[in-house]
Amino acid sequence: MTERLDAFMARANAAYYATRDPFADFTTSPEISQVFGELLGLWAAEVWRSMGSPDPVILAEAGPGRGTLMADALRAIGKMVPDFGRALRLHLVENSPSLRAVQASRLEASWHDRIEDIPAGPMILLGNEFLDALPIRQFVRRDRWMERHVASGGFVELPTDEHLPDWPEGSVLERCEPALALASHLAERLRVQGGVALFVDYGPEHSAPGDSLQALRDRQVCDPLVEAGSADLTAHVDFQAFGKAAHGLAVCGPLPQGIFLARLGLFQRSGALARGLSPDAGQRMIRSAQRLAEPDGMGRLFKAIALCHPDVSTPPGFVE
Ligand code: SAH
Repeated sequence: MTERLDAFMARANAAYYATRDPFADFTTSPEISQVFGELLGLWAAEVWRSMGSPDPVILAEAGPGRGTLMADALRAIGKMVPDFGRALRLHLVENSPSLRAVQASRLEASWHDRIEDIPAGPMILLGNEFLDALPIRQFVRRDRWMERHVASGGFVELPTDEHLPDWPEGSVLERCEPALALASHLAERLRVQGGVALFVDYGPEHSAPGDSLQALRDRQVCDPLVEAGSADLTAHVDFQAFGKAAHGLAVCGPLPQGIFLARLGLFQRSGALARGLSPDAGQRMIRSAQRLAEPDGMGRLFKAIALCHPDVSTPPGFVE
């Protein structure tokens, strides 16, 4: 069987998220520190105010994993901005039945398979490490452009008729069509119904050539093409292309995660929490914050990007 890379990646990730505990293979910002979800919750509350405090309002998350980000966000919202807590209706987009079950044990929400299925209304959408899991196509420049397909655990290159830029031989071009379709869906929806979407993910600031497909199993990099579903497949997010596809919205970022979180108060909040803990636990709290923010941790490669209704003021963290 020969399968285009995006079809292979979609099938592999669906099997992976349905059958394995992804968090045995990789860890994400909300799993590293509770402060990540708390800050994003309070970020959403400020955005809600700048939207004119609509009641009800949809608070949605794409790919909530174990539900940790949202549990931390709701706890902070309940304490600090209870009127937002009362106004919000929680909608989670998750296509893995086993992760839905984990989320349902912690959160009261409505679940959907696709972002397009979230009901109408003003919305604040969050997504951490969601876009990187969406399937990509890869093209390789030989004496003409070829497209990568997968067959028997290896790549096969087949000629393509796509119109692609004139890049030097050997170049690899990636395109994530579901991410582009999502950006144009959000552009349409948020422009008409109001709201803001925030995505945090990893990738360069500007579109760049290169093969970024990566597979992780047991926290180790492995061959992405062996046995579909045995490893987590991701690729760099092309933030520039994503923002460009969101026609008519104000695009904030991409901004390095370290700068974004520091501006939202990562170190103040982590320091305050640490003071209430034992010296060892306090140290761990501070080290987690550093891991999220430091350039050689997740602070530089990870970026935040917000797609905003043009009338909403620039959200917190993106203001210089
Ligand atoms: N946001 C979480 C989990 C990231 S892992 C965290 O930061 O810890 C990616 C998440 O997206 C998982 O919950 C996975 O099941 C979900 N997911 C991946 N592709 C999806 C798709 N096409 N539709 C819906 N959910 C998807």
